[in-house]
Amino acid sequence: MPSNKSVSDAPIAQFTNCRLLRGRRLQREDLWVREGKILNPEKLFFDEKGSADVQLDCKGCILAPGFIDVQINGGFGVDFSLATDDFRSGIDLVGRKILSHGVTSFCPTLVTSPPSVYHQILPQIDVRNGGAHGAGVLGAHMEGPFISKEKKGAHPEHCIRTFEENAFQDLLATYGSLDCVRIVTLAPEIKRSSEVIRELTKRGICVSLGHSVANLSQAEEAVQHGATFITHLFNAMLPFHHRDPGIVGLLTSDKIPAGRRVFYGMISDGIHTNPAALRIAHRAHPKGMVLVTDAIAGMGLAPGRHTLGQQVVEIDGLNTYIAGTKTLSGSVATMDTCVRHFLEATGCSVETALEAASLHPAQLLGIEDRKGTLNYDSDADFLMLDDSLHVQATYIAGEEVWRRDALGM
Ligand SMILES: [Zn+2]
Repeated sequence: MPSNKSVSDAPIAQFTNCRLLRGRRLQREDLWVREGKILNPEKLFFDEKGSADVQLDCKGCILAPGFIDVQINGGFGVDFSLATDDFRSGIDLVGRKILSHGVTSFCPTLVTSPPSVYHQILPQIDVRNGGAHGAGVLGAHMEGPFISKEKKGAHPEHCIRTFEENAFQDLLATYGSLDCVRIVTLAPEIKRSSEVIRELTKRGICVSLGHSVANLSQAEEAVQHGATFITHLFNAMLPFHHRDPGIVGLLTSDKIPAGRRVFYGMISDGIHTNPAALRIAHRAHPKGMVLVTDAIAGMGLAPGRHTLGQQVVEIDGLNTYIAGTKTLSGSVATMDTCVRHFLEATGCSVETALEAASLHPAQLLGIEDRKGTLNYDSDADFLMLDDSLHVQATYIAGEEVWRRDALGM
């Protein structure tokens, strides 16, 4: 009798009758999982003479890596920039709810706030793996306060800062700690930003350019100092101009250091970015596309009026207005909606659409050895999707953490 006891006693699950995304293609292959990791079945058969303990029929579904959202301000009534002593329960709620939208890891994002708010919130953000309790937390995305007043968007102007004499030390004092910080969005035209970018990069923190009036050469200089990301491309930056394309020009710049790739976030909800702009970016630099929701607290709430922090907003489909006006007040699209819109708007392949929400954000954060792919030995964070990319079930570390019920809820 073959035995799988020689290496590990942990049960082995075999997901059959599926097409899985591996090596950039959907392949008719089974997915094997043991101890929360994706298993190489050849090693299992030949070295361990092992076999599956359980088989799960995927009924022809697509299996894809779980989505990673690197810019999400909240959802389901929770605002990550609102300092409360019960901040953790808000993160937990959002982490649980986004499982149904295929998100298995995320970076809670804080908009420009006073230092006291950072000091209260950041110690309450625990970087942790996902599970039945919710999606994994990869660390905070600090969007501001070192941004341009001219491109502040919805950020409060009185909290926007520049780097003073002590540059990096000022940033440290502002945030209080960098322990859980994963991404910092800043405007590279701010004086002394180069040394701040170098210091952050040295500590493994991803620097993103955004809410900025930088020209192309300032943006290129920031990349040469270590910046690797662009925050919501086209939004809150100078519009493309052929004599100086600004930050947008990074997509086709020839001054990117060899071996480096610049990624760019896009809100692919059909509202914040016109489909033609989405196509321009994708065709110019397909391997840099990172889908983000940039969702606000209204994501996941029913249509109608809601009070979010100081604002009353009106949710109408994917549009969210400041109540009584036609002023858009942030995105409420979920990640799975963004993936489907991206697929439809660009006519790209299913593989490409899925990778923009999984492989690319993992590469951006340098975690593609364990997340964002279905490669052997990766974390078994994956989704079952139907052909139109509606999520049917979500798995984290090989455990089912969400499943669409028979009523389609
Ligand atoms: Zn923003």
